Amino acid sequence: MELRKEYDLICVGAGIMSATLALLVKQLKPDLNVLIVERLDKVAQESSAAWNNAGTGHSALCELNYTPEDEEGHVNIKKAIDICTQFETSKQYWSFLVAEGLIKDPKSFITPVPHHSWVKGKDNADYLEKRFEAYKEHFMFDTIEFTREAEKMQEWFPLMMHGRTEDEVMAASRIDRGTEMNYGSLTAQLFDILEKKYDTKVLFNTEVEDIDPDHDVDWLVKMENLTTGKKGTVDSEHVFIGAGGGSLLLLQKVEIDEKDGYGGFPVSGEWLVCKNPDITNQHNAKVYSKAGIGDPPMSVPHLDTRFINGKKELLFGPFAGFSPKFLKEGSYLDLLKSINFENIPSMWGVFWHNLPLTKYLVEQVAMSFEDRMDSLRVFLKDAKNEDWEIMVAGQRVQTIKKDEFEGGSLEFGTQLVSSKDGRITCLLGASPGASTSVKIMLDVLEKAFPELTTSEKGKEQLNIMVPFYKKEVSKVLFEKELEKVSKILEL
Ligand SMILES: Cc1cc2nc3c(=O)[nH]c(=O)nc-3n(C[C@H](O)[C@H](O)[C@H](O)COP(=O)(O)OP(=O)(O)OC[C@H]3O[C@@H](n4cnc5c(N)ncnc54)[C@H](O)[C@@H]3O)c2cc1C
Repeated sequence: MELRKEYDLICVGAGIMSATLALLVKQLKPDLNVLIVERLDKVAQESSAAWNNAGTGHSALCELNYTPEDEEGHVNIKKAIDICTQFETSKQYWSFLVAEGLIKDPKSFITPVPHHSWVKGKDNADYLEKRFEAYKEHFMFDTIEFTREAEKMQEWFPLMMHGRTEDEVMAASRIDRGTEMNYGSLTAQLFDILEKKYDTKVLFNTEVEDIDPDHDVDWLVKMENLTTGKKGTVDSEHVFIGAGGGSLLLLQKVEIDEKDGYGGFPVSGEWLVCKNPDITNQHNAKVYSKAGIGDPPMSVPHLDTRFINGKKELLFGPFAGFSPKFLKEGSYLDLLKSINFENIPSMWGVFWHNLPLTKYLVEQVAMSFEDRMDSLRVFLKDAKNEDWEIMVAGQRVQTIKKDEFEGGSLEFGTQLVSSKDGRITCLLGASPGASTSVKIMLDVLEKAFPELTTSEKGKEQLNIMVPFYKKEVSKVLFEKELEKVSKILEL
């Protein structure tokens, strides 16, 4: 292990977040010295791995949790506009990499798959129609289609219409421009560019154990080589904790006031994956339904076409489970280690004020294979047990934050925690996740390296890489960039 070498930036964890940040930094200032430290032996093995997430390009085209209905019955699309803008920002950056010849084949990570919302029952159908009306008025979503007709749904997702009776009240919407993502492949290619073009390497099998202030400005990153057991320290001016589920445990060791009161609750995930290619080939869609009342947003059931390593797959889920680990390859002591005097009030507050969530998790954990198949049969009436198998998905750590009134609040989005001077930043939470990695890492860049984002040269470069950067997104700009990006990414 290299000892006491000065770095400008150390990224903890080799997932999509560190890959994106490190590459942006090197593209803006190639002479900065960047190191990525990873406890496993390859990149993208935790949440960013293709099978560990759902591979949805979250763009608010089909996910109903981004368009809540208020008490007067109005559907609010503000959050949806935000998510859609963020995903287009990511697509712009990825298309820049393709146009520059740094990524050869866009099909290796992005495939067009139409996005649908599908609901049952009159009230839900009425809500979906209201959402359609609101979407029709906005240029980001005006290509939306809506139907209550079984015949149309038969055209959109025939597999789901087998065995339906005429008295079932259903509605669906569709936006053609949806995408299916292989974030694992994308992450591996980002690290490839870092190594080949910028000589920036990942230090594998090395776990960051602690991060302490050193002298006046630098951070001392303490790590252990997990193969040899040898310990060492490395100095860096900036640190980014992009350790996925492992971020919270590291943040808690960093001596900054901003970390206080944060806690986390691990939720593991499982999918049903189709083993029968004849069935898989009959579906070409991502179909998202509605979460049950009181269920968390990440519980929204969906039936997804996936493309993983050149093969078409069909996946249903997610089902939540409980494991005290914070990473899929983590330790059973993770949850226990994360509880301390600072965050006990937040943890208790969240537990006490979210009893429906606790009930949901207990019910999910108690589900048998047959129960899960019954959930799938809401989507596919004639699904047979022998055609499906369970697969373990990635581990999420839901962030718990101090709350003045309830002790603690549960956060379903991503949280960027940083020191006042921006020299250490940490990403907590996993939703909407990889889809919005470019916007989130641009936020980190602004905090940690303001000189790179505010200089004339930096601004000019960022506008080439990400045309939405710091711009009001008008209809004309949106449509122009969407067309350009779609061509480059072959969508
Ligand atoms: C079930 C599920 C479904 C999801 N579906 C979607 C989806 O459809 N669309 C979407 O956009 N996003 C989705 N997400 C979210 C998305 O997967 C994550 O937001 C994203 O992959 C996080 O990337 P990351 O780089 O932060 O973390 P990770 O990919 O988890 O990488 C963190 C890395 O840090 C390493 N590490 C941890 N601790 C240490 C340490 N102390 N020292 C060194 N290395 C360390 C880990 O080994 C790991 O390699 C989903 C997530 C889950 C779990």
